[in-house]
This record gives sequence, C-alpha cells and structure tokens, in this order.
Amino acid sequence: MTIKRVAILGSTGSIGVNTLDVIRAHPDRFKVAALTAGKQIDRLAQQCAEFKPAIAVVADADGATRLMQILLDQKINTQVLYGPQALVSAVTDSGCDTVMAAIVGAAGLVPTLAAAKAGKRVLLANKEALVMSGNLFMQAMKGGGGELLPIDSEHNAIFQCLPPQFSKTPNPSLGVEELWLTASGGPFRNTPLEQLGDITPDQACAHPNWVMGRKISVDSATMMNKGLEVIEAFWLFGLPLEKIKVLIHPQSVVHSMVRYRDGSVIAQLGQPDMRTPIAYGLAWPERIEAGVAQLNLTQLAALSFSEPDLARFPCLSLAFAAAKAGGTAPTVLNAANEIAVAAFLNEGMPYLDISSVVDKTLNAIPVSGADSIEYILDIDIQARKVARDCIKSISP
Ligand code: NDP
Repeated sequence: MTIKRVAILGSTGSIGVNTLDVIRAHPDRFKVAALTAGKQIDRLAQQCAEFKPAIAVVADADGATRLMQILLDQKINTQVLYGPQALVSAVTDSGCDTVMAAIVGAAGLVPTLAAAKAGKRVLLANKEALVMSGNLFMQAMKGGGGELLPIDSEHNAIFQCLPPQFSKTPNPSLGVEELWLTASGGPFRNTPLEQLGDITPDQACAHPNWVMGRKISVDSATMMNKGLEVIEAFWLFGLPLEKIKVLIHPQSVVHSMVRYRDGSVIAQLGQPDMRTPIAYGLAWPERIEAGVAQLNLTQLAALSFSEPDLARFPCLSLAFAAAKAGGTAPTVLNAANEIAVAAFLNEGMPYLDISSVVDKTLNAIPVSGADSIEYILDIDIQARKVARDCIKSISP
C-alpha cells in the first residue's frame, strides 16, 4: 500500500484534531508531512512531537520562536516557519500529496488554492475558500489535475449519494434532480424570537448535535453556515441554485440527500461525527475505520424534516440572495459575516446584529465580477472595513 503524506492546514482546530485522530489509527496508510496552526503553540508542539512533520507553520514570529525552542528541547527535527506565505510552503514544499484544508475563514483561501494548483488531493473543510472564489478555485482544481473531496458532512454525504460518474458538467441521463442539504436548525430553532436579543456567545456555540469550532458554531446558530453550504454545493456539484434545497432535520442523522428523476431519494446517514467524512476523504475510494460508533437505527425515536423559517434565520436569506447575485457578492457576504461573528464572540456585539451587519455591507458594495484572486482579496478587505464601520455605527 502506498503511504499518503498529509499536510493539515489548521491542525490545532476541531477538524485538524479529528483528522489527526483518524491518521493516528492508520500509521500504515498515512504520514503527516506538515502541520499548521494560528496561535495554539503548545498544542502544535505536542502534535509535532507525536507526528514529526517535515514543516510546522504558525501565524507569527513570536509563536515560531516559542515553537522552535520547545522542539529543540525535545530534539524534534521539524522546520518551523511563520506567516501567510509559509502556509503555502506547507503545501508545496513538505512533500505532501494530500491537503486537509481546515483553517477557518478567509485566511485559508491562498494555501488551499495553492494545493488546488499543485494537483494535490484537496480535502475541503474550509468552505469559506470556495464561497469566496468558487469559479477560480474550481478552475484551479481542474488545471492542477488533483482530486477534490468535500469534508463538510453535507457535501460529503451528497458526494456519496451521487453516481460515481457524475461530474462538474452534470449529464442529464444520470437523472439527478435536486440536492437536499439538511440542517439541524442549531440551538435556537425553537427559541422565542423575543429572546434572541439576549443570546450569549456560549449559548450560540452550544450546538445541540455537533462539537465544532466557535465560528462555525455561531454560523450554525444563525444558519449562515447553511447559506455558505448552498454556495459551496453550487460550485462543487454544478447544479443550478434552484435545485439546491435546505431542509431542517433536528436529529442530524441524515447528513444530506439526492433526489433523482425516477422518484428515488438517496440519503447518507451516520453519527454526527466529523471523523466519518474525514476518513472517507483520506482513504477514498477505499473505506477505513474512523473510530466512530455505529448508528443504531432501532434507538432513534424519529427522523423529522421541515422547511427553514426565513424570518428566524435572516442570514440564510442573505446567503441565498448573495448566491443569486453571484460575482463578488458571496465574497462580501463571507467577509462581513466573519467580522460580525468575531464582534459577537469577542466584543459583545448583540447576536441579532450579525445579520444587520451582513445586510448593510452587502448593500454598500456593488456586485462586480470575481475575475482574479487579487481582486477577490481586495473586495474581501473592503467588505471587512465596511462591516467594521457598520458595527461602530451600531454600537459606538
Ligand atoms: P477551529 O476554529 O476549531 O480551527 C481553526 C483552525 O484554523 C485552527 O487550527 C486555527 O489555529 C487556524 N487558524 C485560524 N486563523 C488562522 C490564521 N489567520 N492563520 C493560520 N491559521 C489560522 O475551526 P473548525 O476546525 O471548526 O473549522 C475549520 C474549517 O472547517 C472552517 O472553515 C469550518 O467552516 C469548516 N468545517 C468545520 C466543521 C467542524 O465540525 N468543526 C464541519 C464542517 C466544516 P489556532 O487555533 O492555533 O489559532
């Protein structure tokens, strides 16, 4: 068996740690080529001690100095780099063939794009990269000739439910009619609307079914996450937007479904545990043990499905509108949302202002073509500034 060499962008986060958990169980199949973190130096040092990557990357020089000292003391021979360009080196210079893209937010875009261009197998968790630059990213994947495997549980489910020969240019004879993305509805699915004004960050991060990083947990509470996923599905699977539907499914057992012309609906079911899609992506087309408990259908009380309530989840409507507008609108949506979620998590901005900030930012920046990565990064910066000004004007 050929050993796969894996670079993990964002190894100290929730997806990164789960990826290392799967890799740890299969030393005969996978080696770690590179690990990257932002600020969690001690956790990264422990990971380096265990997996001995060729390269480790952190966000800044102070972190790099600290990491180098810890690794030197332990006689671990890992090259330590820092900064955004070093994230690209982790992909291009570590000898990896597979890249887990699990940095949260826009910071993951450039190294993920580098992995696409370099023809790596890209395991895509960082949905923001695809939302920001869908067309360019898919072109880069095509040009690089590597494999793109979705890790987001919904898209991984759809990938599993589609016919293997389904491609970016969907062939009508395969009969795929609609993609149904499921959503738990998050912690506030039934909270009275008048109580949403008082929501705290810890309440928003307490997802009923999944354990995830804080940003995506807030996105799940507002359902912006599902909106970003609709845009992600649009680029990944190449179906028109009106064929991508969202269904509330509070149990998070059915991870998504594909409806076919002949009346069949094919669903993928499993535990809400990211190690299943991660193991799938790492080993595809084979299947390996993921360390996940088997699903016991006889213990499930019921599986229910309903339409999302757009009045409760204005972020979902904003994402649909940005997806429809196309061009730079999804980039602006993503940037404004990142700023608004950070202000809610770290600066006491009220929960209900997240959607207002995104809405105002979208209205302030006219939609144009997302034709180059430089332009997309420019728009991203512009949108962040508008969103910040908007937050200041709401709560000076
Ligand atoms: P976490 O917040 O748990 O982890 C994020 C990772 O990115 C950490 O390793 C963090 O480093 C690193 N990071 C953050 N900012 C920077 C930066 N500026 N430069 C370099 N590295 C940075 O997020 P998750 O693991 O939950 O999510 C990761 C991605 O996967 C997101 O795009 C999310 O939407 C997607 N996803 C996550 C799922 C989940 O179950 N968690 C499910 C589906 C998709 P450090 O912590 O050291 O600062």
